[in-house]
Amino acid sequence: MLPDLGRPGIALFQIPARKDNYIYLLHDEEVNLTAAVDPSDAAPVTDFLSAKGWGLDYIFSTHHHHDHTGGNEALRAATGCHVIGFEHDADRIPGIDIRVEEGERVTFGRFSAEILYLPGHTLGHIAFLFSGLKLLFSGDVLFSLGCGRLFEGTAPQMFDSLRKLRRLPGDTWVCCAHEYTEANGRFALTVEPGNEALQRRLREVAVLRRAGEATVPSLLADECAANPFLRADSPEIRLMLDMPYATDAEVFARLRAMKDVF
Ligand code: ZN
Ligand code: FE
Repeated sequence: MLPDLGRPGIALFQIPARKDNYIYLLHDEEVNLTAAVDPSDAAPVTDFLSAKGWGLDYIFSTHHHHDHTGGNEALRAATGCHVIGFEHDADRIPGIDIRVEEGERVTFGRFSAEILYLPGHTLGHIAFLFSGLKLLFSGDVLFSLGCGRLFEGTAPQMFDSLRKLRRLPGDTWVCCAHEYTEANGRFALTVEPGNEALQRRLREVAVLRRAGEATVPSLLADECAANPFLRADSPEIRLMLDMPYATDAEVFARLRAMKDVF
């Protein structure tokens, strides 16, 4: 279920794309602005927009991978929208025309997002944090019950990126770009079988998937309670991995390596 943003006029939408991608749409009817997050393809977005009678003003690109940017050029050509992406990855973000840095704010009508630089999955990965709407567009950094693979960055980099997210308010909705929750949960259960929050979440996920519904966005507080990649300090995980005296970063690195071959 998509969250009610609690502010009149603005709403969040989720368009399934490809095998397991989600494209998010943020629409503010008060100022008639629309943004798409990580459009893997143009067609599902243009279909949705024309059904609603909306234009497209912005694309928020979290990172360069094709399953997140495949629709950028065509959408920009069709709608004249701006493409916002990371300054230091500009040569890999198709259609980019607004370049942003860590800590910068991007304005979306009455609201704005803070740019968080979160290397690990790629070296140019960013997230868009709308504190006023309690929304985090986390791309492929943080998934429900999982985290992104380390394609470019190192485990310590990803650990720091996730630690940054862990410090955000627990009532933040994590809007990730993939429906990976069920598979992530199977791994999570092997490293923390006694975690009741995880067990509860898995029951909920099973019900949602059986009904053909999305399991994301999820609340950051629930991720902190159930997602092993945010829980390197968990005594049970440390016991299961036989790493009682390792640092949290070392436990995280081991978890990530185990998940790669799970
Ligand atoms: Zn990716
Ligand atoms: Fe992806």
